[in-house]
This record gives sequence, structure tokens and C-alpha cells, in this order.
Amino acid sequence: MRNILLVLSGPSGVGKGTIVNYLLEEDNTLVKSVSCTTRAPREGELNGREYFFISEREFRSRIEENDFLEYDEHFGNFYGTPRSFVERQLKEHSVILEIDVVGALNAKRLMPGETVLVMIAPPSMEELEKRLAGRGSESDAEREDRLRRVRYELEQSDLYDYVLVNEDSRETKSKILEIIRREKEKKI
Ligand code: 5GP
Repeated sequence: MRNILLVLSGPSGVGKGTIVNYLLEEDNTLVKSVSCTTRAPREGELNGREYFFISEREFRSRIEENDFLEYDEHFGNFYGTPRSFVERQLKEHSVILEIDVVGALNAKRLMPGETVLVMIAPPSMEELEKRLAGRGSESDAEREDRLRRVRYELEQSDLYDYVLVNEDSRETKSKILEIIRREKEKKI
């Protein structure tokens, strides 16, 4: 059996975080890669759990040192996947990345033998708008920006190996566990 790099993408507010927590709870051989970001922590977020929150200066110097497997900029902030963590963990485990479309496609290009791309889509745009408004952590303009980004991300779904509509996070989690099982057995 091979270890895979499972990339989960999907718009902010679609429920990726909840699904990832369920996956980690149910299969303790899976590990999640924690990205670095230059954005400020949201309420309830912890350094080292949701992200490593670092300064732009540190981020840029880590780019120079080739410390990121991939990185990208969203809404004026940088986000990057730590290379050494992913490469080390993949020797023993399957690894989950929760990253955007551009990062996902870069991961696939860099590690085509391991990477499996899964897009989590909202049941509808209306539902997603409601969830984002409910979270209340962004201004109207930021939310508008994010919704524009959502439409763009969903348009890229064709490039993904799997697209799952997230009606119910536990159900989506079970579908992903099944995908992982099947993909690990594939001979590449
Ligand atoms: P948020 O600020 O809502 O946590 O994340 C904004 C976007 O950045 C999301 O689409 C998220 O998936 C993406 N993201 C988080 N970590 C990374 C990363 O390491 N690399 C890339 N390319 N995107 C990331």
C-alpha cells in the first residue's frame, strides 16, 4: 500500500475544517499538514493548530530557503505548505493538505505519484453565503471578495480527481475515507 497526499480544497466556509477533524478522529494513521500564513489569527485559532502564524518577513525568507512545497497569496496574505514536514510524514503516513486550487495543482505537479485532489463543494451558493455571514469574521467587502474567489475555485473542479458536495460533514468524511482506502491500494 502506498501513502497518499490527500489535498482537500473548497471555498472558505464550506466545512473543510470540520471534515478534516472527523477524518483525523476516525483514522489515527492520517496526519494533517499545518500551513504557515501571514494572516492574523481568527478568534479561536491557535498557533500551530490551524496555522503557524508568521510575519511576512519570515515567510519571504522561508521562500528563499525553499522551505515551502508550494505557496500562494490570497487576499493579500501568504499561505504555504512546509516541505520538510510533508516529505518526512509521507514516509510513514498519508498526509492531508487543506489548500486552495492553485496550491493543489502545484502539489499534483510536484508529487504526481502521491497526490489525490478532492474538491469539497457547497450544496448551493446561497448556503455558503449564509455560512460565511454566520461566521461574522469578515467585513462585507472581504466577504464579497471571498465569494468571487469561491466561484473561481468551483470552476476548477474539473481538474480534481473527486468532487464531493458537502450536505453533511459526517457523510462527506465517510466518502473521503473510502476514497483514501481505494487510492492507497492503487499501484501507480
Ligand atoms: P483562510 O484564510 O480562510 O484560512 O484560507 C484562505 C485560503 O487559503 C483557503 O482557500 C485555504 O484553503 C488556502 N490555504 C490554506 N493553507 C494554504 C497553503 O498552505 N497553501 C495554499 N496554496 N493555500 C492555502
